[in-house]
Amino acid sequence: MKVLVINCGSSSIKFQLLEMETEQLLVKGQIERIGMDGSRLKLQGKQEYVIEVKHTIPDHRTGIQLLLDSLTDTNYGVIDSLSEIDCIGHRVVHGGEKFTEAVVITDEVIKTISSCIMIAPLHNPVNLEGIKICLELFPQVVQVAVFDTAFHQTLPETAYLYGLPYELYIKYGIRRYGFHGISHQYVTNTLAQKMGRPLEELKIITCHLGNGASVDAVKYGRSIDTSMGFTPLEGLIMGTRSGEIDPAIIPFIMEQEDMTGKQVYRYLNSKSGILGLSGLSSDFRDLESAARFGDTRAQLAIDVFAYQVKKYIGSYVVSMGGLDAIVFTAGLGENSPYMRAKICDGLEVIGAKIDLRKNEIRGEDAQVNKDDSDVELWTILTNEELMIARETKRLFEQYG
Ligand code: ADP
Repeated sequence: MKVLVINCGSSSIKFQLLEMETEQLLVKGQIERIGMDGSRLKLQGKQEYVIEVKHTIPDHRTGIQLLLDSLTDTNYGVIDSLSEIDCIGHRVVHGGEKFTEAVVITDEVIKTISSCIMIAPLHNPVNLEGIKICLELFPQVVQVAVFDTAFHQTLPETAYLYGLPYELYIKYGIRRYGFHGISHQYVTNTLAQKMGRPLEELKIITCHLGNGASVDAVKYGRSIDTSMGFTPLEGLIMGTRSGEIDPAIIPFIMEQEDMTGKQVYRYLNSKSGILGLSGLSSDFRDLESAARFGDTRAQLAIDVFAYQVKKYIGSYVVSMGGLDAIVFTAGLGENSPYMRAKICDGLEVIGAKIDLRKNEIRGEDAQVNKDDSDVELWTILTNEELMIARETKRLFEQYG
């Protein structure tokens, strides 16, 4: 059974085709710079070959057509005919309070995703566009929406309500939603398998540390608190995002820097975080090497980030009433022994002892705690596309 996974962003489309009997990746690729100069298709197949095709891609429809053509291309295609695709899984960023798990896409589902546009204006419109194009092209194929927010719909009111007038929650749905849910869920499931224990017994903290970063408290398989909020701007300081700040700072900047609310919002999203603090880069690799050469602001940005992750870990231990394991995932979590060690420095107080020798790994699933650590420490490679494909297959078999 073959599942096509599609993740539409504002100027990009990421995709994977998987053979789900064996969960084997047949091909993955990315359309980049849609509507801009230098748009292209990049493909990576089974044998690690990479193909790059420059192409004029004015819009998402052209992009999707191009990616479909690449699947059956006579030179580098991986299937003979598009009829081999059994179902399609779409990543959707915001499911609001309506979707607590993945769903088969119907007219009703499309209406409900559209109703979430008010709270996810940057992401949901483009996710919907991808869905509509694929429904037109594949009217007979089961298509599934998998949401970034759904995993966090188990948060209790005490964790998701803000200290705002309750009417704003009722009227506009202003509350904590949380994001990266597909990743947090995937690494949680993988960890339970690796530990050889049922998820229903485990208290886990998952740290998804990439350009966007969030920490999640997963108690007995259910997300009970998470650092991102109403939007993915809240929580940890990130590559270019500020993370949480005192809200009073916003009108202060507006006045002092003569900016509009929208300008400050963009500033907090794209000029802040470790980029803003370091004045150097949003990429932790750059900061780590600059810090090694004595750049104090790069070091400061790293230290602030590590401290914030540590603070969330501490508070979630209390929220869950204990802790069995911490997982590090995504670009930084999977690849930076330095950052993992920095975050874990001091966690002995909660029974978590990192083994610095075992921690010297990159890009693999591994247990990195000392033998006498009460809390297990793991790096697990996230695979959001595989999670989407699994959910798509599950729903296809249930309702297809
Ligand atoms: P996203 O999907 O949110 O764009 P990723 O999960 O791909 O992000 O993570 C990208 C980030 O991971 C990079 O910006 C970089 O800071 C960090 N990263 C990747 N590899 C390394 C590494 N070897 N050492 C340190 N940081 C790394």
